Amino acid sequence: MQILDGKALAQKIEKNVAQEVVTLKEQTGRTPGLAVILVGNDPASAAYVNMKKKACDRVGFYSVTHEMPEDISQKAIEKTIEMMNQNPNIDAILVQLPLPSQIDTTKILELIDPSKDVDGFHPYNVGRLTTKLDGFVPCTPLGVIEMLAEYNIDVKGKNCCIVGASNIVGKPMASLLLNADATVEICHIFTDDLKKHTLQADIILVGVGVINLIKEDMVKDGAIIIDIGINRADNGKLVGDVDFKNVSKKCSYITPVPGGVGPMTIAMLLSNTLKAAKIHAQEAN
Ligand code: NAD
Repeated sequence: MQILDGKALAQKIEKNVAQEVVTLKEQTGRTPGLAVILVGNDPASAAYVNMKKKACDRVGFYSVTHEMPEDISQKAIEKTIEMMNQNPNIDAILVQLPLPSQIDTTKILELIDPSKDVDGFHPYNVGRLTTKLDGFVPCTPLGVIEMLAEYNIDVKGKNCCIVGASNIVGKPMASLLLNADATVEICHIFTDDLKKHTLQADIILVGVGVINLIKEDMVKDGAIIIDIGINRADNGKLVGDVDFKNVSKKCSYITPVPGGVGPMTIAMLLSNTLKAAKIHAQEAN
């Protein structure tokens, strides 16, 4: 069994992004800029935003966080996004999800300029991904694809079982794998007999949010396991959705939690923001 080391790969990508930022600044005078909108006081959301901000600082991006109270109005968020859409110093806009219940999240995401949509959640970019056109791809599934490529794992013709069907993780993961010629199946909360599906898979990719959902007897020998879940165990430690201790004895490759998909998500945010800055620099010329 080999560990897919997302932390090490993320550091390598970060180093490349930092070098490219220096070159971009030299050639165009432009510093990539990321604006984050953080609503409410959810500690997990605040922690994620803080990690993203620190990563931006490390690679030399400009970043700004718009913190807003839990009871903020739809209009106020929309106004901030419109301002960021117009701001030439901002290449990338990220709205930290989830938003409070009074907010229409779809409307907010649809307002982001697709050329600044580094999370890839705007329907324009979703459409481009499903039709295999260039655009912005959600950071978490994009990070998984990068990690598989780094370890020379070719998904072409492989049976891939995705567990979890969200717009953020499962669905874009399916599009990316399909675009790479894998055979893709998506399971979710209403899937009958999950084990029947996972046992057929060469690659299991799970992003659900349930500790130990994937157990040893659900995995065929030599399968590749990508654990996207992030959960806080009773002892306070971060764990994924896979019973790592027992499943790792059976599989060929596995991502750890922490240190697997998580750091790759941040690395992909950096590379998407750099991509947006390059597009905007070209447009300005
Ligand atoms: P979500 O709640 O939007 O979606 C969860 C999905 O899992 C749904 O499709 C649901 O049908 C399915 N599901 C729930 N219980 C299930 C069960 N018992 N069996 C099969 N399917 C089940 O969540 P999300 O935003 O997609 O996040 C999923 C997990 O991925 C969470 O643990 C989250 O923390 C993690 N996540 C990690 C990263 C990262 O960077 N590693 C990024 C985003 C999300």
